[in-house]
Amino acid sequence: MTSILIKNATIFTQNANGSPAKADVLCENGRISKIGTGILAKAEYKIDASGKILMPGFANCHTHAAMSLLRGYCDDMKLEDWLAKKIWPAEAKMGKDAIKAGTKLATLEMIKSGTTFFNDMYFQMDLVFEATADSGMRACLGYGMIDLGDAAKREKELGIARKFAKSAISAKNPLITASMAPHSPYTCSKELLQESFMTSQELKLPYHIHLSETRKEVFDVLKQTGKRPVEYLDSIGVLGKNMVAAHCVWMTLREVELMGKKGAKAILNPGSNLKLASGGVPPVPEMMKSKVGICLGTDGAASNNSLSMFEAAKYIALLVKNARWNASIITAQEALGFATSGGYEAFGLNGGRIAKGALADLILLDAKAANLNPATAATNMHAQVVYAGHAGNVTDSIIGGKPVMLDGKILTLNEDKVVEQANNEYERLISSLG
Ligand SMILES: [Zn+2]
Repeated sequence: MTSILIKNATIFTQNANGSPAKADVLCENGRISKIGTGILAKAEYKIDASGKILMPGFANCHTHAAMSLLRGYCDDMKLEDWLAKKIWPAEAKMGKDAIKAGTKLATLEMIKSGTTFFNDMYFQMDLVFEATADSGMRACLGYGMIDLGDAAKREKELGIARKFAKSAISAKNPLITASMAPHSPYTCSKELLQESFMTSQELKLPYHIHLSETRKEVFDVLKQTGKRPVEYLDSIGVLGKNMVAAHCVWMTLREVELMGKKGAKAILNPGSNLKLASGGVPPVPEMMKSKVGICLGTDGAASNNSLSMFEAAKYIALLVKNARWNASIITAQEALGFATSGGYEAFGLNGGRIAKGALADLILLDAKAANLNPATAATNMHAQVVYAGHAGNVTDSIIGGKPVMLDGKILTLNEDKVVEQANNEYERLISSLG
């Protein structure tokens, strides 16, 4: 197994003021095995981290990686028109090469912006799995199921999702796991939601779903079921500890408390919500009070359009402060926690933090970058990273104890080729749409 010794790192600690501490970190067998000063150990890779900041990698807990191919394809449109008139017709024409090219483009961007783990929902997931495995990223992948009440479609969708989940598990890739991913309460029948939940329990997988993203959705679910989305999901028995629910924008206090009581996790996607004008702001202070596990995502690149988790952490902090007229209501450290440890915890992974025994999913930032300075023992580094940091500050990435990017050079992917393939596939797709 690969071993990595990171020397002279300025470790970005999770202590109260975020002041950095100097230390060495040894990674063995995919985990952090030692933290201290003057570590002398034989390691396959030695990284001199002088002048760099070491921090946990980001967890992008909700995305549709392959949609990166549709970045810039249609923007500044109403969500319903954007989906029905542009995205769905384009997705229907996306062939195997397009899915792979889009996923590779996404993994390239995520690695370069410091993301070490992502949670994906899409279709043709065997191809997404292949592209993800090539990238060296940690991921949880799920086939997005939709039946719109059609029983025959339901069986077909469940079959595809189960087959993919089982094959992903049996592939025994130490970095990739699967989820059951019914798209949402308004695109899936009660039976599909329940049956996919049962499979998620049986295979011990996360249950990944879109939930309460827009007001329209809330009213549609109310009309169909007489209940608000979270209450409806609870009434049919699928609201539980393994639920990772994307968006959670339009929620009542009762729904937030219910999520907390049942142990469901909320994945907030402020960039996507702002761009698609979802209007609301997730009730973060109430979620924290009700002990709802909070993590962040970017959503797909067609609706954000960036996969940078620096932006997600900054947006959520600013959005909540502004909405509540209270600059102290959420701190930079809390926002960074959502973007790192919050994500790993939501998926039952011991990661997103620098501690002995934690997964060796780590990134290095250029400590000399103008936008991250001053960077002294008296500086609040959480604030520097969340409010001023950006993707361009990331220099190195280690995932599962293996180097994926060293000094800005990606080891797992051919950057030029990934970008070229994405452009070629995009042109092919657009010309097929006429
Ligand atoms: Zn989504």
